[in-house]
Amino acid sequence: MKTLILGAGYAGLAVATRLKPTPGLQVLLVEQNAYHTFETRLHEAAAHNTRVTLPLAPLLRGTGVEWEQAKVEGVDLDEREVRLRDGRVLTYDTLVVGLGSVTNFYRIPGLAEHSTELKELAHADEIFNFVNRTFDSDFEGNRDIVVGGAGLTGVELVTELAQRAEVLSKARGLPPFNIYLVEAGPKILPVLDDALRAKAQRTLEDYGIQILTGHRLMEATAEGVTVQTVGGEQKKIGAGKIIWTGGIQARDIVHGEKLEKGPGGRIAVDDKLRANGYPEVFVIGDMGLALNQEGQPVPTTAQHAGQQGRVTGKNLMHLAQGEELDSYEPSTLGEFVSLGGLMAVGWMKLPWNQKLAITGGLAHVMKRASEWKWRSSID
Ligand SMILES: Cc1cc2nc3c(=O)[nH]c(=O)nc-3n(C[C@H](O)[C@H](O)[C@H](O)COP(=O)(O)OP(=O)(O)OC[C@H]3O[C@@H](n4cnc5c(N)ncnc54)[C@H](O)[C@@H]3O)c2cc1C
Repeated sequence: MKTLILGAGYAGLAVATRLKPTPGLQVLLVEQNAYHTFETRLHEAAAHNTRVTLPLAPLLRGTGVEWEQAKVEGVDLDEREVRLRDGRVLTYDTLVVGLGSVTNFYRIPGLAEHSTELKELAHADEIFNFVNRTFDSDFEGNRDIVVGGAGLTGVELVTELAQRAEVLSKARGLPPFNIYLVEAGPKILPVLDDALRAKAQRTLEDYGIQILTGHRLMEATAEGVTVQTVGGEQKKIGAGKIIWTGGIQARDIVHGEKLEKGPGGRIAVDDKLRANGYPEVFVIGDMGLALNQEGQPVPTTAQHAGQQGRVTGKNLMHLAQGEELDSYEPSTLGEFVSLGGLMAVGWMKLPWNQKLAITGGLAHVMKRASEWKWRSSID
């Protein structure tokens, strides 16, 4: 069975590292980078230049999976073809697509041109370099930073940036820059309950971060952004760097006559994570629209991408051995938001669907534990 896995993110790498050399199973992993990126830690790389990648080759030892560094340009499910940037066309019997998501700029004027995203290492490097340059004695221009979107990524990023600014400020004897967190919705971190959100909000305020909830980003230019309040009042905020973390959509790279796409361009899949109309194609991670036990879309998180990858890895082995496929049963084990240094807030799942709220150092340890768990699952 000639199998292609596209993408070595949380979903694709979980598939590959689940596999063992199996007669009749021939697997090629195609990934544009020679490394796996811990996307959930990109905000740390943006603020502190923390290492957030691991070389791929050693992770695949003993799996029987071949891998190739190449960029996928398009996938035609009707022809069963994967087109690469270098002009080659790969064919398959079974395909696993885990190419992740891209930033959604919602067609806000100027935003794509004038903002930095936080989806890959190059974006983190760009932010890190800007922050450091603003503390050079000969830096000219606006040092302030506007972050759009107060979900998990935006909140984790602003706290790390505030910490970095404090360190540089002490070291270089210059005041820190201002950080504005702009959010169209009425609250930050809508995924958390009120008590945890209030704790997170206080932490951000203690850092001096200016939280502008109920402010819709209307336009971005080289000089900054225009925001509009719920009441319709517009104001301009000057900034030397605009960072947009306000939305994602599935990567639009897979095409097929029978394909069904849902919100955010995610590809509808069955309970085995196979694309509707294409039983030989598994779509997992941010690109797939898997449903939970209540029929609701599974969130686009690393946690769920990893679960989907693991079940798909098992299913590839089942297919090769002519066995029944397992169904995917999503489970949210908890959710933790880091708030800079040793501070975090979140919750973990207890038996009987109870949630245990955790804040402070222990929440930080829980967040790190989930990262270590991922790391050991792929090693
Ligand atoms: C800053 C940040 C913080 C986050 N924090 C959390 C968190 O705390 N908890 C949580 O659960 N989730 C978090 N997320 C979300 C999580 O990172 C994503 O849901 C997860 O990465 C999705 O996994 P995936 O495998 O679908 O995609 P990805 O991990 O993005 O992997 C996609 C892979 O495909 C490769 N690829 C893409 N296009 C091509 C191409 N054309 N050709 C070849 N290769 C290609 C990419 O290089 C990448 O390796 C965070 C995201 C960000 C950005």
